[in-house]
Amino acid sequence: MNVVLLGIPGSGKGTQANFLKRKLKLKAIFTGDLLREAVREKTKLGKNAKDFMEKGDLVPDQVLLDLIEGKIKEQKDFSGFVLDGFPRTLPQAQGFDLLLKKMGISLDYVIKLNLSKESSLKRLEGRLVCSFCGAFYNLETDPPKKNLLCDFCGNKLIRRTDDKKDLIDARIQVYQEKTEPVENYYRKQGKLKVVDGNAKADVVFERILAVLGK
Ligand code: AMP
Repeated sequence: MNVVLLGIPGSGKGTQANFLKRKLKLKAIFTGDLLREAVREKTKLGKNAKDFMEKGDLVPDQVLLDLIEGKIKEQKDFSGFVLDGFPRTLPQAQGFDLLLKKMGISLDYVIKLNLSKESSLKRLEGRLVCSFCGAFYNLETDPPKKNLLCDFCGNKLIRRTDDKKDLIDARIQVYQEKTEPVENYYRKQGKLKVVDGNAKADVVFERILAVLGK
């Protein structure tokens, strides 16, 4: 099964992608994580992406299409993929369709996690991320068991540098302008399923599984 997750920053895509990875053994691809790693390692990809990311803006489409093509090709032993953070623009969605067609793969579901801007802001301002395994926490609603250490792998939890009020606002605006058309694109294809993301992560996960018929 191949799934794309859409939704404004903070809507829970990363958390749900991790759940789907564990439960359905899907390969989870997080374009934001891949880009952050490239920036840290100062690769050519990272150098291309850095300035855009620091402004909360999107990295150019072709960079993402090349990145995704490489990652999908790596996929051999999985029962499908779940994408968090891609596609984010209409040209990315169209290019992705061409790529999947070329590879003889079909996209089964596009799930939009619905969350208000106010709730997203609240979630992201308290968000902590594991620097190693990428697990998410929230200081108020879902704190780690041990102070600032990941429950799963024990590594240090950090705040993302773009989880600041002005950059969160910019990222939400970019979503509304550039990614909402992607929702319509998949709606027209009959693939878009909207799930209410305004609940605890395990409740949202049950809603997603119901949509996927699992
Ligand atoms: P995320 O972790 O998904 O919130 O992504 C963090 C940042 O990475 C975004 O604000 C963008 O600058 C960049 N990024 C991630 N995915 C994409 C994409 N599909 N297209 C363009 N830029 C992206």
